[in-house]
Amino acid sequence: MDIRSKYFEIYPKVVRSGQKSIITVKPLFDHCKLKSSAQYFISACPLEMGGMKYTSRERIEIQPIDGALKIELFFDGEQEHYLHIYEVVGGEEREYLSFNVYSLKEDLFDRKPYKGDMHIHSYYSDGAESPAYVAAYCRKIGLDFIAITDHGKYEPSLEAIDAFKTFETDFKIFPGEEVHPPENEVHMINFGGKFSVNELFKDREKYMREVEKIIRNLESRGESSFLNLSEKDRYKYASCLWCFNKIREAGGMGIYCHPFWIYSSRYNVPSSLNEYIFQEKPFDAYEAIGGYYIHQVDSNTLQVAYYHEQREKGNRVAIVGVSDAHGCEKGKLIGWYYTIVFSPKLELLDIIDSIKSFYSVAVEALPGEAVRAYGPFRLVKYALFLIREVFPEHDARCYEEGKKMMEHISSK
Ligand SMILES: [Zn+2]
Ligand SMILES: [Zn+2]
Repeated sequence: MDIRSKYFEIYPKVVRSGQKSIITVKPLFDHCKLKSSAQYFISACPLEMGGMKYTSRERIEIQPIDGALKIELFFDGEQEHYLHIYEVVGGEEREYLSFNVYSLKEDLFDRKPYKGDMHIHSYYSDGAESPAYVAAYCRKIGLDFIAITDHGKYEPSLEAIDAFKTFETDFKIFPGEEVHPPENEVHMINFGGKFSVNELFKDREKYMREVEKIIRNLESRGESSFLNLSEKDRYKYASCLWCFNKIREAGGMGIYCHPFWIYSSRYNVPSSLNEYIFQEKPFDAYEAIGGYYIHQVDSNTLQVAYYHEQREKGNRVAIVGVSDAHGCEKGKLIGWYYTIVFSPKLELLDIIDSIKSFYSVAVEALPGEAVRAYGPFRLVKYALFLIREVFPEHDARCYEEGKKMMEHISSK
């Protein structure tokens, strides 16, 4: 990003591909004011079409109108464009400003990027703060939507929603929980479901009956991939299928969590069971990027490698990135990992549908490191532009609102 772009209001930065758009560049300060004695020219370099050095792009003169430059250009393809504005005074030319815009094809242009975290803990399980505090903090760091997902508990997510019911905001807090079935160590997230799946385990007999029925059904299919699983893993798979079905019944999205988390000197999910889960895909989305501390980041690398390998086999997998944070003020996890979903609206059903239709990327933003995004190529490409050119301003606005949310819940 050209540091000088901070001196200007530039709008829009994202345009529709295959048509003409008008970009307005308005200087905000005296040191970058347009000069009446100057002429202004623009050249546009589409990043994927040869760039500045190899393309003889003509320079187009632009006339200042009301102290701003209105630039009408045809933007082609789905890509980033470098725009260079030159100022000529008395035969002397200098580059006045360079900035970037992104052109999108119809389907993506009609969606907006939203940042969300769908896996976070409060002090009702092993987190540090109240659900309301966590929610306000998440707004402060630039998120558009979240769910509090405590271990085995759904109520805390409702408490977070309730805390801001009189606070006017676009920030969305959805219900959620981390689902822990009996004798099954696979972790799952119920994101947005209207009822608690954990509550259903209280009727243990009913749960066991239904899971056993699933096992019998799967065994009767006679598929070797299921029959080759150990008896314990057959139960765990059936239990996962039962949970994901219940999450969908509740209107939620089922996330398959951190399979390569090392716990008790082993991966959280045995490899044969993990393979079967990916073969059958009972989940709606895969936690490709999960909340790992610096010494555990290998697990994310493996989860991403696994994702790529599945895609190589033709198995499309919907992905999310989540912080799985256990405390906001620890300076760890929260904000390190999140999801960008490209959704028509910031509504639960749209978000779920968009993620399930592969319109999301998982983002890793480790402190002091370059931000990385994982997912379909075109979305990663666009996400990197947004992270660099668009989100900093968005995040600054969110920070101000997050501070107000903190005030709203503090007893000061
Ligand atoms: Zn977990
Ligand atoms: Zn968790």
